[in-house]
Amino acid sequence: MKEFTDFQEKLARNCPDIRILYNEPMAKHTSFRIGGAAEAMAFPEDREELAHLLKTSRLLDCNPAILGAGTNVLAPDEGMAGLVICLKDCLDGMERLDETHIRVMAGVTMTRAAMFAAKQGLSGLEFAHGIPGTVGGGVYMNAGAYGGEIGSVLTQAEIMNPEGKILTLSREDMAFSYRHSRLEDTPGIVLSAVFCLTPADSEGIFARMKELMAKRSASQPLDLPSAGSAFKRPREGYAAALIDEAGLKGFQVGGAAISRKHAGFAVNLGGATARDVKELLRQVTDRVYGKTGIRLEPEVRIWEHS
Ligand SMILES: Cc1cc2nc3c(=O)[nH]c(=O)nc-3n(C[C@H](O)[C@H](O)[C@H](O)COP(=O)(O)OP(=O)(O)OC[C@H]3O[C@@H](n4cnc5c(N)ncnc54)[C@H](O)[C@@H]3O)c2cc1C
Repeated sequence: MKEFTDFQEKLARNCPDIRILYNEPMAKHTSFRIGGAAEAMAFPEDREELAHLLKTSRLLDCNPAILGAGTNVLAPDEGMAGLVICLKDCLDGMERLDETHIRVMAGVTMTRAAMFAAKQGLSGLEFAHGIPGTVGGGVYMNAGAYGGEIGSVLTQAEIMNPEGKILTLSREDMAFSYRHSRLEDTPGIVLSAVFCLTPADSEGIFARMKELMAKRSASQPLDLPSAGSAFKRPREGYAAALIDEAGLKGFQVGGAAISRKHAGFAVNLGGATARDVKELLRQVTDRVYGKTGIRLEPEVRIWEHS
């Protein structure tokens, strides 16, 4: 068995009651199924445990990485030094607050949140049904689909800052724009979100979600590991159309390829490394730029070793 590093020993000593896995493969926690071992991966059960992990991280001079469902992350082949805090299923729970508002904890998946809203007869989260990430990741990314996005239904988010202090931020404070929130510039962890929705007939909401899911299955390579859209939508058009027009459907680097079903997706055909995916994205960016003068930007978060 591998010996504990100094960091692992100190972390274990400081957090004896928190579930922590050591040398845990990131590939097990990312939808790309890519990534070497995290030196430590913690699963806090509640906000007290999360605050304790942040305090311990400061003590150990470590800047922890935050992981939701790992559906928009490309994790490095070398793995992650230090601590990864995984929130999927940890910060769990949903409640109806009044006629039009629900509160959802950050670790709940967006599909579960959309189902909850539908059962409550509340419309507005239909677009989120089928986005495989958590509400925390969705708020961070301002996730969206089919004309809807998190930033247009969120009214309030509870954020824990790196010192463990909890702030309540409004939609305006969150500075949402296309696949962006203030959390990209000012570090903070989403604990929960309040959504303002519209009362409507549950049956109609479920029907709309079914329709959107059918569209997804028909157009997206859901049978292969990916992180969703590889590139952000450029101002001048759609990334998928530009990639397709550049003749890059099926273009492959190692085990990574541009999906033949949807040119906006980079997929893992089996055994792809982060290096393969990065090289694929680089070559696609260069070729599309060479052909159109439009520079694509990755939507997937590319994590580095430390
Ligand atoms: C098949 C497929 C389809 C997809 N379709 C869509 C789509 O239609 N629309 C869309 O927008 N996205 C889509 N995605 C991408 C992805 O699901 C979303 O971006 C989602 O919001 C990411 O959530 P996550 O929990 O997986 O975040 P992760 O991938 O774990 O993390 C993404 C970023 O959010 C940060 N983060 C995660 N949780 C928190 C938190 N609680 N507090 C602070 N920061 C946090 C992470 O540090 C990281 O920087 C798709 C992905 C796949 C695989």
